[in-house]
This record gives sequence, structure tokens and C-alpha cells, in this order.
Amino acid sequence: GELVKKRKIAVLGSRSVGKSSLVIQFIENTFVESYYPTIESTFSKTLNYNGTTFDCDIIDTAGQDEYTILNSKHAIGIHGFVLVYSVASRKSFDMVQIVYDKIINFCGLNQIPCVIVGSKTDLSTRQVPAEEGQQLAKQNHAAWVETSAKANTNVSKVFELCLAEIEKASPSSKAD
Ligand code: GDP
Repeated sequence: GELVKKRKIAVLGSRSVGKSSLVIQFIENTFVESYYPTIESTFSKTLNYNGTTFDCDIIDTAGQDEYTILNSKHAIGIHGFVLVYSVASRKSFDMVQIVYDKIINFCGLNQIPCVIVGSKTDLSTRQVPAEEGQQLAKQNHAAWVETSAKANTNVSKVFELCLAEIEKASPSSKAD
């Protein structure tokens, strides 16, 4: 029989970078203009990737800043991390490394399965060049992609890359 693997993915980053919009575009194929920002929700979706079926739980967090203490729910039992910044916000970009470091310190690991996502590429007010995003990802052994939830660009790519990073970290069935 076919094996269905369960994967838990947490989406983190500064407030209003578009985490909810990204997740809702992925799950429901719609763009929501505004979504209550402080709510945390978990969404489920079955994904077929590389011939395997993955039962994914995606945790859309309320958002973090430099003062936020990492919630253990966002680290324990999480297989992969999606760290989002807005390409139109330098501050949100700087927050990615801060949140990444909080996760690895919490988990006691050197690296984690992670995708760094530059969101809102449809905006013309870019503050973070693509090259800087790529560089940050490289430094942290993470995957990287730019997206627009509004234009529905590269949205599913985010979660495919995350599954790929999870598989890279645990190529056997250890993460099952
Ligand atoms: P969160 O706090 O990170 O979950 O951010 P939200 O998903 O609530 O989005 C914050 C704001 O950015 C909302 O007004 C969204 O409509 C807007 N937004 C989200 N994604 C995009 C995008 O891809 N492009 C543009 N232009 N705006 C976006």
C-alpha cells in the first residue's frame, strides 16, 4: 500500500509580511486582502510530491519580532520551517535571521529544514534585492524563493521546497 507521510510545517516571520495570505492562497486558491493578524491557525493539505503523498499540517503563526519568545509549539514536532519576509520591508528581512537563530537555539541544532521566502514581489517598492535573499539562504543552508500571494506566483513552490528540505534532512523514514 501507499505510505502517507505526516509533515508539520510552521510559517514564521514579522507581522504583515503576508504569512496568512500565502497560506490561504496555497490552501484555498484565493487572495484575502485582510485577515485578522493575531490569530494563529493550522491548515491541512494533502500534497503529492516526488511520488509520495504527504499529509501536511501548516501552522500559520501570528508573527514574531526581536522581543518574541519562541513558542515551543513552533519548534517541537515541527518538520520544516517557512520563514517569510516582505521584499518591500528591510526590517522584515532582518527579522528572518533573528527568528532562524531563535529556532536553532531552541532546538539545539546547527541547521533546520527551512525555506526563506521573499513575499509581495508584485509591489514596486522593493527594499531587498533578490541576491540578498539568496545570500541569506545560502549562509543558513536554507532554500529560498520569492513569491506573491496576490499574483499567485510561486506559492506552491514554497511548500514543495519545504518538503524537499525536510527530505534532505531525513532521507530515510526517520521523520515519519
Ligand atoms: P501576516 O500578518 O504575515 O499573516 O500578513 P497578512 O497575510 O495578513 O498580510 C498583510 C497585508 O499584506 C494584508 O493587507 C495583505 O493583503 C497584504 N499582502 C499579503 N500578501 C501580499 C502580496 O503578495 N502582495 C501584496 N501587494 N500584498 C500582500
